[in-house]
Amino acid sequence: MSLRNIVTQGDPILNKKCRPVTEFDEKLANLLDDMFETMHNANGVGLAGPQVGILRRVVVIDAEDEDIELVNPEILSQEGEQTGFEGCLSVPGMWGYVKRPQWVKVKAQDRNGAWFETEGTGLTARCFCHEISHLDGHLYTELADRLYTTEELDRMAEEQEDGGEENQ
Ligand code: ZN
Repeated sequence: MSLRNIVTQGDPILNKKCRPVTEFDEKLANLLDDMFETMHNANGVGLAGPQVGILRRVVVIDAEDEDIELVNPEILSQEGEQTGFEGCLSVPGMWGYVKRPQWVKVKAQDRNGAWFETEGTGLTARCFCHEISHLDGHLYTELADRLYTTEELDRMAEEQEDGGEENQ
């Protein structure tokens, strides 16, 4: 396993639509392992293919101490609403207040090509939406009225004592 370079905002690869994965081979397994390692190393809760320069529909998530890999993911249904601060490993040091569904159900394949369904609430639901948007070339910054620096967010958190900071 090895760490991959994380692409940051401004690189056009982050705005491109990813192609589906069609080969469930060792190369895919290595990519997913590297993405998990890269995400954990950066203390992120999610990472998508384009963020490591790969225009394929692959996502890794570790929102609630559980590693989830999603190949060719699709959102099947969603319910409710949540708003909160969201960050991205490709937009370091910045945060945006973003509205997401409270519950999301996803269909995806694993590294062997087997289809499965999974669902999540709260942070996991937020991650599903954030990461799958990456695969279509979209960043959370498009959904935020404005961006805040980590210092601004810390100051607001001190005043309000709410909101975590999670990089996706
Ligand atoms: Zn992101």
